[in-house]
Amino acid sequence: MVITIASGKGGTGKTTVGVNMAVSLDKAVRFLDCDVEEPNAHLFLKAVINEQTVVDTFVPEVDFTKCTYCGKCGEICQFNAIAVLKDYVLTFPELCHSCRGCLQVCPEKAVQESSRELGIIEQGRAGHVEFIHGRLRIGEAMSPPLIRAVKERIDKGQINIIDAPPGTSCPVIAALKGADFALLVTEPTPFGLNDLILAVEAVRALKMPLGVVLNRAGNGDSGVQSYLARENIPLLLEIPMDRKIAEAYSRGQMIVDVMPEWKEKFRGLYQKIEGIVNRQGDT
Ligand code: SF4
Ligand code: SF4
Repeated sequence: MVITIASGKGGTGKTTVGVNMAVSLDKAVRFLDCDVEEPNAHLFLKAVINEQTVVDTFVPEVDFTKCTYCGKCGEICQFNAIAVLKDYVLTFPELCHSCRGCLQVCPEKAVQESSRELGIIEQGRAGHVEFIHGRLRIGEAMSPPLIRAVKERIDKGQINIIDAPPGTSCPVIAALKGADFALLVTEPTPFGLNDLILAVEAVRALKMPLGVVLNRAGNGDSGVQSYLARENIPLLLEIPMDRKIAEAYSRGQMIVDVMPEWKEKFRGLYQKIEGIVNRQGDT
């Protein structure tokens, strides 16, 4: 089972939902923090890291002894990462999406493999939770390949909880792709609703089942609930606006640290997701 937790924007409590659900389950769980620009789940889980791997990605390097400046590599590049001049080929590694198109079209085999470092993957443990996260190298803009590298560590035999980056752009799609379920976290405000609608559209384009957790419930309006009812999207859990929860968060604690009775609610959240995924599989 692979559950990706996403939200249209940052600060909605996506990581809070992910870590609390992970520690509440009494089965083998993998937590994969794919918010590689700003991973912070390890702070709440207090994960002990015991393995580090550097992740590189392909970038082209031109062998000028072979290049005829035919221009084919520049034509195929969708990202302007390679430009052919009269007697020189410029490459812009930071724009390269590592599609290898230039490598394949070069008739002279003048494009060769080189690499640049994307970041690192760290793996460790927090109690019964196997923990994995990616850290994007400072200055690196291309997070999807690192997210995909983190996701290579999914273990289909376990429950995998993926913390997606905020927003609805390429990194979020990279985190969502291939999941069995998208859990969207939002807030009961017009901004929350606006971002939720964008996130729902992204998930629907990927054709996967989805459900919503409403965080800071009771602190806004009922726009989100009306939208969910209209769109037939299940509201799986409401986390109330609660001073104890906010204080725990600011101290780096989880909800279940200060209110152990919430373990049952997070287990219930997982069971609802499992029920939806199983029903989906039967149809
Ligand atoms: S495709 Fe190959 S030969 Fe043509 S310009 Fe690019 S590197 Fe040079
Ligand atoms: S690998 Fe793809 S993105 Fe990178 S320079 Fe070549 S064609 Fe462009």
